[in-house]
Amino acid sequence: MQTDREIFHVGRPNIGDRDSLMRRINDIIDRRWLSNNGQYVQKFEARLAALLDVKHCIAVCNATVGLEIAIRAMELSGEVIIPSFTFIATAHALQWQQITPVFCDVDPITHNIDPKKVEALITPRTTAILGVHLWGRGCDVQALKGIADRHGLKLLFDAAHAFGCSHEGRMIGGFGNAEVFSFHATKFINTLEGGAITTNDDDLALKIRHMKNFGFTYYDRVESIGTNGKMNEISAAMGITNLEAMAEFISINKRNLLHYGQGLEGVPGLKLISYDSSEQCNCQYVVVEMDALAAGITRDELVSKLHEHQIFARRYFFPGCHRMEPYLTLYPEAGKRLPHTEALTQKLFCLPTGSAVDEDDIVGICRLIRSMIC
Ligand SMILES: *Cc1c(COP(=O)(O)O)cnc(C)c1O
Repeated sequence: MQTDREIFHVGRPNIGDRDSLMRRINDIIDRRWLSNNGQYVQKFEARLAALLDVKHCIAVCNATVGLEIAIRAMELSGEVIIPSFTFIATAHALQWQQITPVFCDVDPITHNIDPKKVEALITPRTTAILGVHLWGRGCDVQALKGIADRHGLKLLFDAAHAFGCSHEGRMIGGFGNAEVFSFHATKFINTLEGGAITTNDDDLALKIRHMKNFGFTYYDRVESIGTNGKMNEISAAMGITNLEAMAEFISINKRNLLHYGQGLEGVPGLKLISYDSSEQCNCQYVVVEMDALAAGITRDELVSKLHEHQIFARRYFFPGCHRMEPYLTLYPEAGKRLPHTEALTQKLFCLPTGSAVDEDDIVGICRLIRSMIC
């Protein structure tokens, strides 16, 4: 069959127009300005800020460093409440700075941090809530903001999945004190490696700008501690090029999602998660929720069988941050208050999408899945 010879991975990069990219890279090399707030980075930041309707956008070398900088610039300390059902970087960005990530359960339907569970986790040491807009579906921002305001907490969002997505009609990027995007190779828009911090807070933006550049406030003046979080010019050129193809990537993702929906319709025990059609969405994740009993095969068996056929579906977010080190040793009891997280880590997997996958591929993948289940 069609899929036998090809290999499909979750998160194969979307790549915009190659000639435009090469022209830009040549220009960068001709001008010999490779980093340090060059014109491509400035242009990329301006385009992001306009697109996301946010006052400030600071490009960074990746989202993990972006989270670390935002956390530091917001002066978080003590404990910060986060979901465990996320990529490990969300937790590491805190623990790296001796801040305790306090794992909160998620809503079983939205997969996002459950505001109803947050308040009970607040202690005198809590300084913030760090929400994750999982799969690009916005957190319950209103409820989280209400809790943060009532308790004098800061509010930060890991928006690594949510570039180009809206929540209640507003682009994600302007919520909370700050939001952090990822432009890693596997994300919907990539800059090879990269990320951005967005905020409407002027003071915070300036502080972040200094921090990502060693604390320099002037070419030979340092006024605070900082790190090297800068984005380079070639990454920014990749970002600008990919932004030009963003509408196309979105329509490919939506088309792919539709084909998966058709291909998997009626397969016992499989359900695709849905995206709110009244919001803008990048649809970069094709997430399947599996009921092993109905399917007659476990999630792990199905995923490993797909791997045998070179279809690298992925378990997400397996096994959950709280079951990975150092958190498992530091907080061995955390799982007890995370029943929905634990259930989801056993039920979900993601299928390959993006511009590297076409309709015929999806028909083949779905046929294969059917043969394993029905
Ligand atoms: C990809 C991702 C990150 C890390 O992004 P990098 O740019 O690779 O550092 C953080 N959080 C979530 C939820 C992610 O998916």
